[in-house]
Amino acid sequence: MDDEQLLRYSRQIMLPEIDAAGQLRLAESKVLIIGLGGLGSAASIYLTAAGAGSLVLVDFDKVDLSNLQRQVLHQTRDIGRLKVESAREHLTEINPHVELITIDRALDGDDLLNQVQSADVVVDASDNFRTRFMINEACVRTRTPLVSAAAIRFEAQVSVFDASREDSPCYRCLYGEDAAVEETCTANGVMAPLLGIIGSIQATETMKVIMGIGETLAGKLLLLDVLRMEWHVAGLRKDPDCPVCGDRKKSLDGRTDRQTVSTNA
Ligand SMILES: [Zn+2]
Repeated sequence: MDDEQLLRYSRQIMLPEIDAAGQLRLAESKVLIIGLGGLGSAASIYLTAAGAGSLVLVDFDKVDLSNLQRQVLHQTRDIGRLKVESAREHLTEINPHVELITIDRALDGDDLLNQVQSADVVVDASDNFRTRFMINEACVRTRTPLVSAAAIRFEAQVSVFDASREDSPCYRCLYGEDAAVEETCTANGVMAPLLGIIGSIQATETMKVIMGIGETLAGKLLLLDVLRMEWHVAGLRKDPDCPVCGDRKKSLDGRTDRQTVSTNA
């Protein structure tokens, strides 16, 4: 790190838990962020400002007027632009030291697996179960830590699934085959700052995983209801019958390859 970077990150480096060593680990890290909507906006802004080494930004969508209420990475003048292009411009202005790799296509099959495998942490900021399940499968198969979140109306949840640990539950352990009654912000609405809160928690947990500090949300599900401003923490257990990480997982091999990720969060 040069003098400019030492000063830029000084308020973080002065924390003994982080120190120069933690900042360097962050600077050498690669984070895959899938979805540049409300959650992805907050997560990418903080990871950029805090000094992540490389961010891979995935979204094939374009900025729409109805996004701007909560997707703070994009501005009014960006309407109609690809979200990854808008993101690249604004994140570069925040911190030019961060390498930004943009992907404006749907990730599927080996494409998804390769991107997940090359990342130190995956931030799931997508907005639908199908995509979350696919990202989870790729993370389990490649043993890549996953920082997962979802938000709708006034409620949100966030967790860390650390597939590098044998006893770790995965996202699929939470939801059975018939779970996915699809609800999206587009159809149901969401209070804007809720996405900022939860996306910021995703950035926080990502940094903790990379730096190896504190206790992450691995094995726990953090639930927030902003209408009552109540937080709850639920313990998560690995489901031995989980089709992704449990004893039946072999039946899945090869299946992921024909699915497609969509990221219109
Ligand atoms: Zn599982």
